Amino acid sequence: MSQLSVEHLLGIKYLNKQDIDLIFQTADHFKEVINRPIKKVPSLRDITIANLFFENSTRTKLSFELAEKRLSADIINFSAGQSSVKKGETLIDTVNNILSMKVDIVVMRHPNVGAGVFLSQHVDAKIINAGDGTHEHPTQALLDSYSIREKLGSVTGKKVVIIGDILHSRVALSNIFALKMQGAQVKVCGPTTLIPKHVKSLGIEVEINLKKALAWCDVANVLRVQHERMDIKYFPTTREYKQLFGINKEILDSLDKKIVIMHPGPINRGVEITSDVADADQSIILNQVENGVAVRMAVIYLLAQQIKR
Ligand code: ASP
Repeated sequence: MSQLSVEHLLGIKYLNKQDIDLIFQTADHFKEVINRPIKKVPSLRDITIANLFFENSTRTKLSFELAEKRLSADIINFSAGQSSVKKGETLIDTVNNILSMKVDIVVMRHPNVGAGVFLSQHVDAKIINAGDGTHEHPTQALLDSYSIREKLGSVTGKKVVIIGDILHSRVALSNIFALKMQGAQVKVCGPTTLIPKHVKSLGIEVEINLKKALAWCDVANVLRVQHERMDIKYFPTTREYKQLFGINKEILDSLDKKIVIMHPGPINRGVEITSDVADADQSIILNQVENGVAVRMAVIYLLAQQIKR
Protein backbone atom coordinates (compact mmCIF):
# COMPACT_ATOMS: atom_id res chain seq x y z
CA MET A 1 0.00 0.00 0.00
CA SER A 2 1.22 3.54 -0.76
CA GLN A 3 2.49 5.80 1.98
CA LEU A 4 2.34 9.49 2.67
CA SER A 5 5.51 11.44 1.76
CA VAL A 6 5.48 13.12 5.20
CA GLU A 7 5.98 11.78 8.73
CA HIS A 8 3.58 14.25 10.34
CA LEU A 9 0.66 16.36 9.13
CA LEU A 10 1.93 19.81 9.99
CA GLY A 11 0.48 21.78 7.10
CA ILE A 12 -0.80 21.40 3.55
CA LYS A 13 2.35 23.10 2.29
CA TYR A 14 4.40 20.02 3.22
CA LEU A 15 2.17 17.64 1.21
CA ASN A 16 2.14 16.87 -2.51
CA LYS A 17 -0.75 16.04 -4.86
CA GLN A 18 -0.16 12.27 -4.48
CA ASP A 19 -0.55 12.61 -0.71
CA ILE A 20 -3.87 14.38 -1.15
CA ASP A 21 -5.08 11.74 -3.62
CA LEU A 22 -4.05 8.96 -1.23
CA ILE A 23 -5.83 10.66 1.70
CA PHE A 24 -9.00 11.03 -0.39
CA GLN A 25 -8.97 7.40 -1.62
CA THR A 26 -8.51 6.25 1.97
CA ALA A 27 -11.28 8.61 3.14
CA ASP A 28 -13.63 7.15 0.49
CA HIS A 29 -13.18 3.78 2.17
CA PHE A 30 -13.74 5.18 5.67
CA LYS A 31 -16.79 7.17 4.55
CA GLU A 32 -18.32 3.86 3.53
CA VAL A 33 -17.35 2.39 6.94
CA ILE A 34 -18.96 5.19 8.97
CA ASN A 35 -22.20 4.72 7.07
CA ARG A 36 -22.41 1.03 7.99
CA PRO A 37 -24.56 -0.14 10.92
CA ILE A 38 -21.30 -0.98 12.73
CA LYS A 39 -19.29 2.16 12.14
CA LYS A 40 -16.01 0.88 13.47
CA VAL A 41 -12.86 -0.92 12.28
CA PRO A 42 -10.20 -2.52 14.50
CA SER A 43 -7.24 -1.04 12.51
CA LEU A 44 -5.66 1.03 15.32
CA ARG A 45 -6.37 -1.18 18.34
CA ASP A 46 -2.70 -0.97 19.33
CA ILE A 47 -2.34 2.81 18.89
CA THR A 48 -2.74 5.52 21.55
CA ILE A 49 -3.59 9.07 20.56
CA ALA A 50 -3.42 12.23 22.68
CA ASN A 51 -5.67 15.13 21.71
CA LEU A 52 -4.01 18.27 23.04
CA PHE A 53 -6.15 21.37 22.70
CA PHE A 54 -4.43 24.54 23.88
CA GLU A 55 -7.12 26.63 22.18
CA ASN A 56 -10.91 26.26 22.07
CA SER A 57 -12.55 23.93 19.62
CA THR A 58 -15.87 22.17 19.23
CA ARG A 59 -16.15 20.59 15.80
CA THR A 60 -12.50 19.75 15.24
CA LYS A 61 -12.05 18.17 18.66
CA LEU A 62 -15.21 16.07 18.40
CA SER A 63 -14.39 15.11 14.85
CA PHE A 64 -10.87 13.92 15.72
CA GLU A 65 -12.16 12.02 18.76
CA LEU A 66 -14.82 10.29 16.74
CA ALA A 67 -12.36 9.45 13.95
CA GLU A 68 -9.99 7.91 16.52
CA LYS A 69 -12.80 5.91 18.13
CA ARG A 70 -14.02 4.64 14.76
CA LEU A 71 -10.48 3.33 14.19
CA SER A 72 -10.47 1.66 17.67
CA ALA A 73 -7.51 3.70 18.97
CA ASP A 74 -7.08 4.44 22.68
CA ILE A 75 -7.50 8.14 23.40
CA ILE A 76 -6.49 10.65 26.03
CA ASN A 77 -7.80 14.20 25.97
CA PHE A 78 -6.24 17.33 27.31
CA SER A 79 -7.50 20.92 27.33
CA ALA A 80 -5.15 23.73 28.30
CA GLY A 81 -7.76 25.39 30.51
CA GLN A 82 -7.74 22.47 32.95
CA SER A 83 -4.00 21.76 32.86
CA SER A 84 -0.65 22.57 34.45
CA VAL A 85 0.15 24.86 31.50
CA LYS A 86 -1.54 27.49 33.65
CA LYS A 87 1.05 26.66 36.35
CA GLY A 88 3.92 27.56 33.99
CA GLU A 89 4.85 24.20 32.46
CA THR A 90 6.51 24.41 29.00
CA LEU A 91 4.95 22.83 25.92
CA ILE A 92 7.73 20.24 25.59
CA ASP A 93 7.45 19.26 29.27
CA THR A 94 3.68 18.96 29.02
CA VAL A 95 3.90 16.82 25.92
CA ASN A 96 6.83 14.68 27.11
CA ASN A 97 4.91 13.89 30.28
CA ILE A 98 1.99 12.77 28.20
CA LEU A 99 4.22 10.81 25.85
CA SER A 100 5.82 8.91 28.73
CA MET A 101 2.41 7.27 29.01
CA LYS A 102 3.28 5.64 25.64
CA VAL A 103 1.41 7.81 23.20
CA ASP A 104 1.98 7.22 19.46
CA ILE A 105 0.17 10.17 17.85
CA VAL A 106 -0.44 13.71 19.10
CA VAL A 107 -3.26 15.81 17.63
CA MET A 108 -2.57 19.38 18.66
CA ARG A 109 -4.36 22.71 18.42
CA HIS A 110 -2.27 25.62 19.62
CA PRO A 111 -2.57 29.44 19.45
CA ASN A 112 1.05 29.84 18.29
CA VAL A 113 2.04 29.65 14.63
CA GLY A 114 4.49 26.78 14.07
CA ALA A 115 3.71 24.98 17.36
CA GLY A 116 3.27 21.67 15.53
CA VAL A 117 6.55 21.97 13.63
CA PHE A 118 8.34 22.83 16.89
CA LEU A 119 6.86 19.85 18.67
CA SER A 120 7.71 17.45 15.82
CA GLN A 121 11.38 18.43 16.21
CA HIS A 122 11.43 17.77 19.94
CA VAL A 123 9.25 14.78 20.72
CA ASP A 124 9.08 11.24 19.47
CA ALA A 125 5.49 10.92 18.21
CA LYS A 126 3.53 11.59 15.04
CA ILE A 127 2.11 15.11 15.14
CA ILE A 128 -1.14 16.20 13.50
CA ASN A 129 -1.73 19.94 13.42
CA ALA A 130 -5.35 20.66 14.33
CA GLY A 131 -4.86 24.41 13.84
CA ASP A 132 -1.83 26.54 14.77
CA GLY A 133 -2.81 30.17 15.38
CA THR A 134 -3.51 32.05 12.16
CA HIS A 135 -1.28 29.70 10.17
CA GLU A 136 -2.62 26.33 8.97
CA HIS A 137 -5.53 23.98 9.62
CA PRO A 138 -4.65 21.14 7.25
CA THR A 139 -7.43 18.66 8.05
CA GLN A 140 -10.02 21.42 7.51
CA ALA A 141 -8.62 22.15 4.05
CA LEU A 142 -8.53 18.44 3.22
CA LEU A 143 -12.15 17.95 4.23
CA ASP A 144 -13.13 21.08 2.31
CA SER A 145 -11.49 19.82 -0.91
CA TYR A 146 -12.89 16.35 -0.29
CA SER A 147 -16.39 17.87 -0.03
CA ILE A 148 -15.92 19.83 -3.28
CA ARG A 149 -14.71 16.65 -5.00
CA GLU A 150 -17.75 14.79 -3.67
CA LYS A 151 -20.20 17.49 -4.80
CA LEU A 152 -18.65 18.49 -8.14
CA GLY A 153 -16.71 15.33 -9.11
CA SER A 154 -13.29 16.96 -8.93
CA VAL A 155 -11.40 19.94 -7.57
CA THR A 156 -9.22 20.40 -10.65
CA GLY A 157 -10.33 23.34 -12.79
CA LYS A 158 -13.01 24.49 -10.31
CA LYS A 159 -13.31 28.17 -9.43
CA VAL A 160 -13.32 28.72 -5.68
CA VAL A 161 -13.69 32.03 -3.88
CA ILE A 162 -12.78 32.29 -0.20
CA ILE A 163 -14.76 35.12 1.39
CA GLY A 164 -14.18 37.18 4.51
CA ASP A 165 -11.45 37.38 7.12
CA ILE A 166 -8.53 36.01 5.10
CA LEU A 167 -5.96 37.75 7.31
CA HIS A 168 -6.69 35.80 10.50
CA SER A 169 -7.80 32.56 8.89
CA ARG A 170 -5.75 29.38 9.02
CA VAL A 171 -8.61 27.81 7.04
CA ALA A 172 -7.98 30.26 4.19
CA LEU A 173 -4.24 29.61 3.97
CA SER A 174 -4.53 25.82 4.11
CA ASN A 175 -7.35 25.94 1.55
CA ILE A 176 -5.31 28.10 -0.81
CA PHE A 177 -2.41 25.60 -0.68
CA ALA A 178 -4.70 22.58 -1.10
CA LEU A 179 -6.82 24.04 -3.91
CA LYS A 180 -3.82 25.28 -5.90
CA MET A 181 -2.08 21.92 -5.53
CA GLN A 182 -5.12 20.24 -7.07
CA GLY A 183 -5.36 22.68 -9.97
CA ALA A 184 -8.33 24.80 -8.84
CA GLN A 185 -8.56 28.52 -9.60
CA VAL A 186 -8.73 30.55 -6.40
CA LYS A 187 -9.82 34.09 -5.56
CA VAL A 188 -10.19 35.75 -2.19
CA CYS A 189 -12.81 38.39 -1.41
CA GLY A 190 -13.24 40.56 1.67
CA PRO A 191 -12.54 43.99 3.14
CA THR A 192 -9.07 45.13 2.00
CA THR A 193 -8.06 45.45 5.65
CA LEU A 194 -8.65 41.70 6.08
CA ILE A 195 -6.70 40.63 2.97
CA PRO A 196 -2.98 40.06 3.62
CA LYS A 197 -0.70 42.34 1.55
CA HIS A 198 1.27 39.60 -0.18
CA VAL A 199 -1.59 37.17 -0.79
CA LYS A 200 -1.14 37.41 -4.59
CA SER A 201 2.30 35.81 -4.26
CA LEU A 202 0.38 32.57 -3.50
CA GLY A 203 -0.85 32.56 -7.11
CA ILE A 204 -4.37 33.72 -6.40
CA GLU A 205 -6.42 36.79 -7.27
CA VAL A 206 -8.16 39.33 -5.08
CA GLU A 207 -11.71 40.47 -5.89
CA ILE A 208 -13.17 43.03 -3.54
CA ASN A 209 -16.60 43.13 -5.21
CA LEU A 210 -18.66 40.32 -3.70
CA LYS A 211 -21.20 40.16 -6.53
CA LYS A 212 -18.41 39.79 -9.14
CA ALA A 213 -16.65 37.16 -7.04
CA LEU A 214 -19.85 35.12 -6.72
CA ALA A 215 -20.68 35.47 -10.41
CA TRP A 216 -17.22 34.07 -11.23
CA CYS A 217 -17.07 31.08 -8.90
CA ASP A 218 -18.40 27.52 -8.71
CA VAL A 219 -17.87 27.36 -4.94
CA ALA A 220 -17.92 30.04 -2.24
CA ASN A 221 -16.18 29.17 1.02
CA VAL A 222 -17.48 31.69 3.56
CA LEU A 223 -15.29 32.39 6.60
CA ARG A 224 -16.17 33.59 10.06
CA VAL A 225 -15.04 37.04 11.15
CA GLN A 226 -12.48 36.09 13.81
CA HIS A 227 -13.17 38.81 16.37
CA GLU A 228 -11.07 37.01 18.98
CA ARG A 229 -7.93 37.54 16.85
CA MET A 230 -8.58 41.22 16.16
CA ASP A 231 -6.78 43.69 18.38
CA ILE A 232 -7.83 46.69 16.24
CA LYS A 233 -10.97 47.54 14.27
CA TYR A 234 -10.70 46.20 10.71
CA PHE A 235 -14.09 47.46 9.48
CA PRO A 236 -16.48 50.10 10.83
CA THR A 237 -19.51 48.03 11.86
CA THR A 238 -20.90 44.50 11.60
CA ARG A 239 -23.85 46.02 9.73
CA GLU A 240 -21.55 47.41 7.04
CA TYR A 241 -19.65 44.10 6.82
CA LYS A 242 -22.95 42.30 6.35
CA GLN A 243 -24.03 44.70 3.61
CA LEU A 244 -20.79 44.42 1.65
CA PHE A 245 -19.64 40.84 2.29
CA GLY A 246 -22.57 38.95 3.82
CA ILE A 247 -23.98 36.08 1.78
CA ASN A 248 -27.77 36.22 1.62
CA LYS A 249 -30.46 34.64 -0.52
CA GLU A 250 -31.03 37.81 -2.50
CA ILE A 251 -27.48 37.99 -3.81
CA LEU A 252 -27.42 34.27 -4.62
CA ASP A 253 -30.76 34.51 -6.46
CA SER A 254 -29.39 37.36 -8.57
CA LEU A 255 -26.74 35.02 -10.07
CA ASP A 256 -27.55 33.07 -13.21
CA LYS A 257 -26.24 29.81 -11.68
CA LYS A 258 -26.38 27.87 -8.45
CA ILE A 259 -23.05 27.97 -6.66
CA VAL A 260 -21.97 25.64 -3.85
CA ILE A 261 -21.83 27.28 -0.39
CA MET A 262 -19.32 26.13 2.25
CA HIS A 263 -18.41 27.31 5.74
CA PRO A 264 -15.88 25.74 8.14
CA GLY A 265 -17.95 26.66 11.22
CA PRO A 266 -18.65 28.02 13.71
CA ILE A 267 -21.21 30.09 11.77
CA ASN A 268 -22.18 33.59 12.82
CA ARG A 269 -25.70 33.38 11.46
CA GLY A 270 -26.84 36.75 10.19
CA VAL A 271 -23.28 38.12 9.92
CA GLU A 272 -21.20 36.46 7.18
CA ILE A 273 -24.09 34.22 6.10
CA THR A 274 -27.86 34.33 6.60
CA SER A 275 -29.71 31.36 8.05
CA ASP A 276 -31.68 30.64 4.87
CA VAL A 277 -28.40 30.33 2.91
CA ALA A 278 -26.66 28.23 5.56
CA ASP A 279 -29.59 25.79 5.50
CA ALA A 280 -30.27 25.92 1.73
CA ASP A 281 -29.81 22.84 -0.44
CA GLN A 282 -26.86 24.48 -2.21
CA SER A 283 -25.05 24.61 1.14
CA ILE A 284 -22.78 21.62 1.90
CA ILE A 285 -21.88 22.78 5.41
CA LEU A 286 -23.14 19.63 7.14
CA ASN A 287 -21.55 17.39 4.50
CA GLN A 288 -18.26 19.08 5.40
CA VAL A 289 -18.77 18.05 9.02
CA GLU A 290 -19.58 14.45 8.06
CA ASN A 291 -16.61 14.27 5.68
CA GLY A 292 -14.36 15.64 8.42
CA VAL A 293 -14.59 12.36 10.30
CA ALA A 294 -13.73 10.24 7.24
CA VAL A 295 -10.84 12.50 6.20
CA ARG A 296 -9.40 12.57 9.73
CA MET A 297 -9.70 8.78 9.93
CA ALA A 298 -7.71 8.61 6.68
CA VAL A 299 -4.95 10.94 7.92
CA ILE A 300 -4.60 9.13 11.25
CA TYR A 301 -4.69 5.70 9.59
CA LEU A 302 -2.04 6.62 7.01
CA LEU A 303 0.32 8.13 9.60
CA ALA A 304 -0.18 5.12 11.89
CA GLN A 305 0.93 2.81 9.04
CA GLN A 306 4.40 4.35 9.38
CA ILE A 307 4.71 3.39 13.05
CA LYS A 308 6.81 0.25 13.60
CA ARG A 309 4.81 -2.25 15.62
N1 ASP B 1 -13.10 26.32 13.06
C1 ASP B 1 -12.17 27.01 12.20
C2 ASP B 1 -10.82 27.18 12.87
O1 ASP B 1 -10.59 26.61 13.91
C3 ASP B 1 -12.71 28.28 11.66
C4 ASP B 1 -13.12 29.33 12.66
O2 ASP B 1 -12.84 29.21 13.85
O3 ASP B 1 -13.69 30.33 12.21
O4 ASP B 1 -9.96 27.86 12.35
